[in-house]
Amino acid sequence: MDNRLKVGIVGATGMVGQRFVTLLAEHPWFQVVSVAASQRSAGKPYAEAVAGRWAMAVPVPPAIGSLAVRDASEVEGLAREVDFIFCAVDMPKAETRELEERFARAETPVVSNNSAHRSTPDVPMMLPEVNDEHLTVIPAQRKRLGTRRGFIAVKPNCSIQSYVPALHPLREFGPEKVFVCTYQAISGAGKTFSDWPEMVDNVIPFIGGEEEKSENEPLKVWGAVRGGQIVSAQGPTITSQCIRVPVTDGHLAAVFVSFARKPPREKVLELWRDFQGKPQKLRLPSAPQPFLRYFDEDNRPQTRLDREAGGGMGITVGRLREDRILDYRFVCLSHNTLRGAAGGAVLTAELLKAEGYLQAR
Ligand code: NAP
Repeated sequence: MDNRLKVGIVGATGMVGQRFVTLLAEHPWFQVVSVAASQRSAGKPYAEAVAGRWAMAVPVPPAIGSLAVRDASEVEGLAREVDFIFCAVDMPKAETRELEERFARAETPVVSNNSAHRSTPDVPMMLPEVNDEHLTVIPAQRKRLGTRRGFIAVKPNCSIQSYVPALHPLREFGPEKVFVCTYQAISGAGKTFSDWPEMVDNVIPFIGGEEEKSENEPLKVWGAVRGGQIVSAQGPTITSQCIRVPVTDGHLAAVFVSFARKPPREKVLELWRDFQGKPQKLRLPSAPQPFLRYFDEDNRPQTRLDREAGGGMGITVGRLREDRILDYRFVCLSHNTLRGAAGGAVLTAELLKAEGYLQAR
């Protein structure tokens, strides 16, 4: 008997949706039974709906390719078929917020890549290795929504998923100031070079809204649970510049950091080497082992060589050295559509299942 949870992907035809499709094709715990998108794709077999824009390196999995794409706005019908959904849609924020709440109120948990609910205080914004305890706000959220099993959990923005993992093991030394410059792949905008030719041989020093997210979202991830809400941390103060660069996948970050108490370099390396989050301890199917990998070579991590570390779920770090203004500087890298989007959401769902928040209907 197939004991896997039944899952729907809303926004299945998009860049992140396609990643979900490939990651879940053979997942040990979850089975894709439904795919949904806009009215433009609704009614077509999935393989036809993504023809000409399939951006993954592997073919469309046949079992999913033959599913008829549903209209995502038909929430009730979709909700009945699945135990929970993954959501990654390109819609105005207010509409996304409403769509996700409709699914949650239809008793269908939502694990979302969208930004719409990231600042909702009783919605956990999960980086599973960093803030697993934030799942404890779910009962309070269910109470607010009036649901028995429905709730929303979200992923943070892809830009923060290289430097927050690297800074997290160092929190005991009180990081105070963080300067970060991110070099972000075009898939982060849902694009490939064929549909964004202006990016070939080019760098664009602006990504709308990204710097605000890069500076504020880490504070919620490092926040504390109080009275059924997540209260953001007061620090560190983060300042960022987010730059679009001509690579397909992988967001690299150059980080400068000062601490209340400066740790010895060897201690930083030891903390990175030994750090394990709940996903590693529980040996969740998508948990990278190790979570953080440090390179001694001066020219690593490199986007093309290292973005697939740990199946695209690992964070690679390098070039740790003393800084002339702050205490240390280093470089780190994460895969934006795997760790930063679909893979991170799948890992969140695995943690939710392991902790008893996701069950069969
Ligand atoms: P995308 O490639 O543009 O795909 C958008 C998806 O949304 C498509 O499936 C599209 O369906 C669907 N959609 C658009 N309008 C809709 C509507 N009115 N009703 C239902 N579905 C609708 O975008 P993406 O890059 O995958 O991003 C999706 C979400 O994930 C965004 O919120 C984005 O900010 C977030 N995110 C992206 C990344 C990344 O690295 N790309 C990382 C983290 C988070 P059709 O094909 O039918 O139009």
